[in-house]
Amino acid sequence: MDHFEIVDGELHAEQVPLSAIAREVGTPVYVYSRATLVRHAKVFREALSALPKVHIAFAVKSNPNLAVLRVLAREGYGADVVSEGEMNRALAAGIKPEDVVFSGVGKTRAELIAAVRAGIGQFNLESEEEGVELSEIAAALRTRATCTLRVNPDVDARTHAKISTGKAENKFGVAYDRASGIYARLSALPGLEMRGLAVHIGSQITDLEPSRQAFLKMGALMNALRVQGYTVSHMDLGGGLGVPYKAGDDLPTPADYGRMVSEVAQGWGVTLMFEPGRVITGNSGVLVTEVVRVKKGTGSPWVVVDAAMNDLARPAMYDAWHDFAAVRPGGETMTANIVGPICESSDTFALGREIDAVKAGDLAVFRTAGAYGATMANTYNSRPLVPEVMVDGERWAIVANRIEPATILAAEQVPDWLA
Ligand SMILES: *Cc1c(COP(=O)(O)O)cnc(C)c1O
Repeated sequence: MDHFEIVDGELHAEQVPLSAIAREVGTPVYVYSRATLVRHAKVFREALSALPKVHIAFAVKSNPNLAVLRVLAREGYGADVVSEGEMNRALAAGIKPEDVVFSGVGKTRAELIAAVRAGIGQFNLESEEEGVELSEIAAALRTRATCTLRVNPDVDARTHAKISTGKAENKFGVAYDRASGIYARLSALPGLEMRGLAVHIGSQITDLEPSRQAFLKMGALMNALRVQGYTVSHMDLGGGLGVPYKAGDDLPTPADYGRMVSEVAQGWGVTLMFEPGRVITGNSGVLVTEVVRVKKGTGSPWVVVDAAMNDLARPAMYDAWHDFAAVRPGGETMTANIVGPICESSDTFALGREIDAVKAGDLAVFRTAGAYGATMANTYNSRPLVPEVMVDGERWAIVANRIEPATILAAEQVPDWLA
């Protein structure tokens, strides 16, 4: 459910017509709905309400915009971060350091130091080597870093290969069979407080069975560690729940997910931690674009829009589907290819798709663009960095400026020896 609906013939974000935003800010532009974000945050929390102790850390990488983080901070969400940059954003948004989880397979020494100094609540260690390094850092700073060990459960999340993270051949976590030995060795190190395990098998998960299998394996590992006398008070089950990208898609809901977790984790006696990203932000945003022109082809016409793969990379990276809709649909439809202006054939949003009929100058949106949209944007082809807007009822504000190519050019210099 979202708050992007047609009112008086025009698509609105809450009470704001998208054409009003496009007129003032230009296109392409991401538009987020605060009410949708809040709704998703509440629905996800509600889905876990049967569980005794829960900590939810929003996966910042799905949408790191400061205003988005602020909305989620006000909903009581913590943050799951994967870099010092994301950590600083979460803190700047008012999320308490103790509610921040630091994930990632390549945290640098500098990042570990900064995170220990900031008092980050939990480090999800992805290797024994990382744990040894963090132990030295924390001990030198005369403190203890609270940690879980991320385990690779070797299950297939049955999602796109590029966003699958829980198979043995993926780089994430430590091998399941080696996990208890590593946990034991790290528990003996100074400066570390090992308090649990973490798992995250992938993103855009549309079938709960692989997650269930992974969580069962984690439960067994937890029990084995406890039998050996180790403390396991926290289990971080990661994120990954998928969202419907295509109208009519039938996916497990947060409530289905919550029920599955309740069954598997019954009697675990731990604080359960979650790291949802896409399920919170995905449907909370659209990418507004203008049709540059419609070009005849040998097959379907090419609808060339002013948004491109640099603004929304998912179709080019993951063959992802985003519903496309006219801002003022006239009722007619057409079959078309939708492409951006970038000089790559991968700059293709849809091929041979039935869409609202559009012509040059019309506004349209790519839906479900709130997650892994603006955050992956870049300036390829010397295009501007796409701006972001947040709507709240009748009001709206720019929450990230368009960064013009001139600003980026100004950060470059020609060395003397080329003058
Ligand atoms: C990306 C990621 C998430 C969030 O994934 P979603 O599919 O957006 O929910 C959570 N935890 C970790 C460790 C991640 O890398």
